Parts: sequence; C-alpha cells; structure tokens
Amino acid sequence: MFCPNCLYEYKEGVTKCEDCGADLVKELPPEEEGDLPDIEVAELTEVENDIEAEALRGMLTDVGIHSFLRSNILPHSNINLSFFKRKSYGTIIVNKEDLEKAKEVLEDFRKL
Ligand SMILES: [Zn+2]
Repeated sequence: MFCPNCLYEYKEGVTKCEDCGADLVKELPPEEEGDLPDIEVAELTEVENDIEAEALRGMLTDVGIHSFLRSNILPHSNINLSFFKRKSYGTIIVNKEDLEKAKEVLEDFRKL
C-alpha cells in the first residue's frame, strides 16, 4: 500500500497514511510523462526570416509533416542571438522520422 501524497510504502492492512492521513492506494499512478511525447527531432534547415519559415512550414504541412520553428530571435525583442555568428532567423525542426521526406520538400522549396 502506498500513500499517493508522500509516496511512502505501507504494510498490507494499513488504509491511511500515518503522515498525512490520506487514503492509501494499492499502486502508485505511473510517473507523469512530460507534456510532449518523447520524439526525436532533427534540424532541417535554417531560415532567414519569418516569411521563409512560414512558406516552408506550409509546404511541409501539405505533405503531412509536422514542423516547428526554433527561433533565434528573443520574443518581444529584435535581438538576434546569433547575429554575430550567422545570419539566421531560426531553424526549422522536424520529427526525425520525417527528415528524409522533409529534405525532398526543402529541395523543391529552394528551387522556387
Ligand atoms: Zn501521506
């Protein structure tokens, strides 16, 4: 038996936690998973501005690839973190499983 609050284990037959008074449970609930599923992601490419980012992400969405933009620019400011390193607005991230397909989309995109 376990206390769901204190996570202490009690002997069989004990019904309430001696510490906090909570009703004991037979098994503790499984540990909370993070909000995001544990998927492997990969960097597809860097983009120079939000227009490019949205256009590319739109093309990826069209073929069923979920993507997101990891911005190099701090929200609510125009400070580009990577300004001195490279001229980049952000990086398009995709699920690693989709990377090969996404690269094909990217190739088409760059031809436009
Ligand atoms: Zn307790």
